[in-house]
Formats: sequence, structure tokens, C-alpha cells
Amino acid sequence: MFDLHVHTTYSDGDFTPIEVAWAASRKGLKAIAITDHDECRGALELKGKDIGIDVISGIEIAAKYEGEVHVLGLLIDCDNAQLSCHIKKTLELRAQRAEGILAKLNSSGIRVSYEDVKKEFGSGALGRPHIAAALVKNGYAGSSNEAFNKYLSKHGEFYVPYEKIDIRGAVKLINGAGGKAVLAHPGLLNPDILNTLWPKLKDIGFWGVEAYHPSHSDEQCAEFEKNAVKYGLFVTAGSDFHGSAKPLIEIGQEIRGGEYLKKSGEALGI
Ligand code: AMP
Ligand code: FE
Ligand code: FE
Ligand code: ZN
Repeated sequence: MFDLHVHTTYSDGDFTPIEVAWAASRKGLKAIAITDHDECRGALELKGKDIGIDVISGIEIAAKYEGEVHVLGLLIDCDNAQLSCHIKKTLELRAQRAEGILAKLNSSGIRVSYEDVKKEFGSGALGRPHIAAALVKNGYAGSSNEAFNKYLSKHGEFYVPYEKIDIRGAVKLINGAGGKAVLAHPGLLNPDILNTLWPKLKDIGFWGVEAYHPSHSDEQCAEFEKNAVKYGLFVTAGSDFHGSAKPLIEIGQEIRGGEYLKKSGEALGI
């Protein structure tokens, strides 16, 4: 059993890398991939530590393709120069974007400061979930989900985008860093947009598709696996664990998948 999509305090998860590794080990998992948003230093913290499970160094890059798409990178070299450069730039853009969202909220009389948000944030990629947590602390919402619905949704008045790398650039960065690029949670994409993407994935340089994700119905998993096989791609499975930011998701909970998933594990050496 493995879980190839896990967040830590290096983005919007609230378990540190070692806490995530312990939780995975308690669950009896053989391997996890730490895949923080636009950040890869989590796995580096665990290098050389004997924790009884394999930890794959990963990332989840937010990229552009007719809107936003998430690209997982597995087995990446986090010290790769181009990748590091992208991460540094993106973390700056994310911080500026958080300030933009806060300015909009403040000008509508919603009082949340950058300091409030910093308290909810460890290091690495600052995101809307940290603003959501501050909004909850300050009494503007009862839960992170409510804060998203009321204040932070993409279509809401307080949303501020930040410039994202295009999908080809994201995959190129991952491949350049020795990694394998995987299309994250395809079920969260608009189905029409996803349909235009399937025949291009291989050419773009993707290695696999995250067919198994808690947001996917059994029918979607089967369809994504079928398409992955049709287009010559591996399939992966991940929980997208975030800790209390997504309280209904447990590490290692995505246990669907069969022969094709096993093959992917072998290809990843886990
Ligand atoms: P950002 O990368 O800053 O745009 O924030 C996006 C992240 O927010 C996603 O990766 C999710 O982890 C989280 N997120 C999105 N929608 C919700 C929601 N409704 N409730 C809680 N977290 C969410
Ligand atoms: Fe997230
Ligand atoms: Fe994602
Ligand atoms: Zn994720």
C-alpha cells in the first residue's frame, strides 16, 4: 500500500513531514510521496532518517491549461536549479497574491491581517487555506470550507489569481528534475477540458494519471484508468491528505486500484 499524494506544513497541510511519515507508518503504508503545492523541501527533511517507510520526493505544481490544472512530480531532484528557480518565484507570487486577497477583504471591512495569516502558515507555499484558517480564527466563518465558500472561491469578489506556469512548462520542469509527471485528480477538471487533454498528455511528457483520488467515483476511476491505458500512461493513487484542513481525508485512505496500480509501484521502485 502506498499514498502518492500527501501535503505537509510546507504547503497547506498541518502535519510536518515527520508527522506525516509516522502517520503513514502507523497505517502500515509501504511508501508515501510528499507532494506539497509548489514546494518540494518536505521530503528533504526526512533524508537519511530511519522511519520505516519509503518517502518519495514530490511536488504538486499549479499550472495553466484552459484554467488551472495540478501536475504532480514524483521522484524529483529538489535541488534541480530550474525547479528551484520556479519554486522561489512562485512562492513570492503566492505571498503577493495573499496580500492582494487581504487588501480586498480589508477594504470590505473584513479584518484579517498578514500577521494573522502568517500564524496559520509554516513555511513554503502560502495559499488560500491559510487565509481561510485566519478567517475562521477571527470569527468570519465556522470552518475552512465555509471560509472558502464565503470569501475565497475562484468566482468570488475577493479572489486574486497569480501567474501560473503553463502545463508544458510544468511537465518539462519535472522531467528536467529527473521526475515523473502525473496529472493530479483529473476528476476535478471540467470534463470537456479534460477530454481535450487526454490525447495530448503523452506528447506533453506526462508519465501517469492519478486515476484514484477520493474525489473520484468508482466509475470515474475506471474511466480514467481505461484512458490512461489507452494513451500509454501509468496510473497512480493518492489521498491528497492535508490533515485538519480537509478533515474527512485520512492518509492512505485511497485504497482502490488493481493490477495497473501495482505496475506503477514497481516502475517507481516502491
Ligand atoms: P491556492 O493554491 O492558494 O489557490 O489554494 C488552493 C487549495 O485550497 C487547494 O489545493 C485545496 O487544498 C484548498 N481548497 C480548495 N477549496 C477548498 C475548500 N472548499 N475547503 C477547504 N480547502 C479548499
Ligand atoms: Fe491543498
Ligand atoms: Fe490539487
Ligand atoms: Zn494536493
